[in-house]
Amino acid sequence: MNIYFDNAATTPMDSLVVESMLPYFTTFFGNPSSIHKKGREVRAKIEQARKQVAKSLNALPSEIFFTSCATEGNNTILKSVVESHQIQHVISSPLEHYAVLNVLQILEKKGHIQLHFVKHNTKGELDLIHLKELLETYSHTLVSIMHANNEVGNLNPIQEIAGLCKEYQAFFHSDTVQTIGHYQLDVKKMGIDALVGSAHKFHGPKGVGVMYISSESHLNPLFYGGTQERGFRAGTENVAGIIGLTKALEIAYSDLENDKDAIFTLKKYMIEQLKICIPNIAFNGNSENLEKSLYSIVSISLPPIKNSGMLLFNLDLYNISISGGSACSSGAQTGSHVLQALNDTEKKDRPVIRCSFSKYNTKEEIDYFIEKLALLYK
Ligand code: PLP
Repeated sequence: MNIYFDNAATTPMDSLVVESMLPYFTTFFGNPSSIHKKGREVRAKIEQARKQVAKSLNALPSEIFFTSCATEGNNTILKSVVESHQIQHVISSPLEHYAVLNVLQILEKKGHIQLHFVKHNTKGELDLIHLKELLETYSHTLVSIMHANNEVGNLNPIQEIAGLCKEYQAFFHSDTVQTIGHYQLDVKKMGIDALVGSAHKFHGPKGVGVMYISSESHLNPLFYGGTQERGFRAGTENVAGIIGLTKALEIAYSDLENDKDAIFTLKKYMIEQLKICIPNIAFNGNSENLEKSLYSIVSISLPPIKNSGMLLFNLDLYNISISGGSACSSGAQTGSHVLQALNDTEKKDRPVIRCSFSKYNTKEEIDYFIEKLALLYK
């Protein structure tokens, strides 16, 4: 058996997505900026894709920008908002992905902003009273809080956070990489000013992402060049990638409830079986809380074991692809900044693994995984 439980890192591409992209490497090879027929036909396809993506997020086509990845999207939005709106105070959390955290820390190091972190508990639940206090203290702020955490799976109360941002006229950016294509997102209902996604997290290709930026944002570009993406993101478009992203999103939303239910059932089963088969097991963040975490991620805190550094290697030998994560801060491995920030002392020094599922996983795979994991604890 070959088991892939690392879908939060990347997902296998849907064959229909691959198929949809192929003509854009051959027939539709024109540069969408060319004014002749070969260019115009590709331009039309990109604009059609933009409309489709916009519709699925309840945004306007003019609010959708294609990028190379979510890291680019986060960098662009955060840097542009700070520069365009002369923001001095940014509110975020230490549990963000490095694609947000590192940009903000660099901006702070350069003296462009002061960075304020919202407090959280050991489960990673953000303290919204503290967020309100920060918004009261610092006017004219940018708030960047992810929709769902990629390591422990926590879902943040995004609408509530957006509501607070609106109340205090703060710009609200959310890294929605782990939820776009997995939850129906309605940017208007959610009250988000800007969000980002990445196609390879929902069975699309790598190297293509998307940004939604509300038409009221009035941002300057991050870099300058041609007039692509209405001058906001210069550079010849990754046409096949854009088509693939759009197809992947269409497929993701076409049977969302069924896929969601199936994956949710796997997660529930995994938690139940782990509790039965591995003594003294625990879960990180809100991972075990089925309402407050992604239906696709389980972050597991395993009992201490001799040679815990070999755990992932041993699972790999059983053809199980899975991610690790540890809160250790010494030696070559710096560990997970998220687990370190959670500072859950009860789980300190325990090996951590993250299982993240997709619609392609099965109950049999979970049985196999637990059987092999249990063997390592014999
Ligand atoms: N944000 C989150 C929450 C992620 O999980 C990831 C990828 O792991 C990224 C950002 C970066 O995405 P990309 O690989 O498209 O740059």
